[in-house]
Amino acid sequence: MKIYAFLILIIPGLLSFGQKKQVCFSFDDLPVVSYGIADPVFQKNLIDKLVSSLKNNKIPAIGFVNESRLYNNQSIIQSQVELLNKWADSGLDLGNHTFSHSDYNNISFKEFSQDILDGETVTKEILKNRNKSIKYFRHPFLHVGNTKAKADSLSNFLNDHGYIAAPVTIDNEDYLFALAYQRAKGKADTNLIKKIGHDYIGYMESKLKYYEMQVNILFGRDINQILLLHASSLNSEYVDSLAYIFRKNNYDFVSMDEALKDDIFRSDITVYGDWGISWIDKWALSRGKKGSFFKDEPATPDYIRKLAE
Ligand SMILES: [Zn+2]
Repeated sequence: MKIYAFLILIIPGLLSFGQKKQVCFSFDDLPVVSYGIADPVFQKNLIDKLVSSLKNNKIPAIGFVNESRLYNNQSIIQSQVELLNKWADSGLDLGNHTFSHSDYNNISFKEFSQDILDGETVTKEILKNRNKSIKYFRHPFLHVGNTKAKADSLSNFLNDHGYIAAPVTIDNEDYLFALAYQRAKGKADTNLIKKIGHDYIGYMESKLKYYEMQVNILFGRDINQILLLHASSLNSEYVDSLAYIFRKNNYDFVSMDEALKDDIFRSDITVYGDWGISWIDKWALSRGKKGSFFKDEPATPDYIRKLAE
């Protein structure tokens, strides 16, 4: 009898240990995405809530900054810098997302690389004050260069300047839900506000399951996932629910450093285009997968698209 009791205790532990997966939460467009709401109190409350929820859920997130958002004409807006200080004080990491969120598909390498350099001044200082240095770069619109030559120029530049490009595996349209959510709040439509939040979490879990399925078909295993989010009001209120769905699907939360230890991120990408897509999609295209391979990708509901127009 004793041995059975022992096995009952030990087996579920071993099974869950073996299946444990890892995800890094990354937030773009810091210091804050407030869709035109310039009220510093609103913005501070949003970031306070986001940061405390990340802390409570022990999520070592990274936020990518557009430093143009820190300025009004030439003068720095101290309240915006304070949002970044708050983020960094909580032990969360910061990276570069260019100064002005420029689109590498539309400008030259020279202009784009200058926008990267312009975008690191304040962030470097904030990290330096905390004995850290800037390490990660996230491409706006996930545009890495629409030809091999353009992509190689950028990747060499990043390398020469000590940056590591931060990939995304779970791409999604959280920004459409976030804008729809903010508009529903503007109308004080309680039922719609709740519905959007509920549908958002369902959509994000379906995205997670979709990308897990895709990597298992491509590589026969789970991989370290990197989730793309934005520093919006919606996410500040729903980080707890997002954390819940990832825990429920057996994930631990890890830093970008930890996530990138997976060799999958050294896989070859041989296709280039105007797209801004998940690295999983690029690995699939590089292995000759065509349209039908992507047919089960969850879609953003029409009513969200309409609200976000
Ligand atoms: Zn962005």
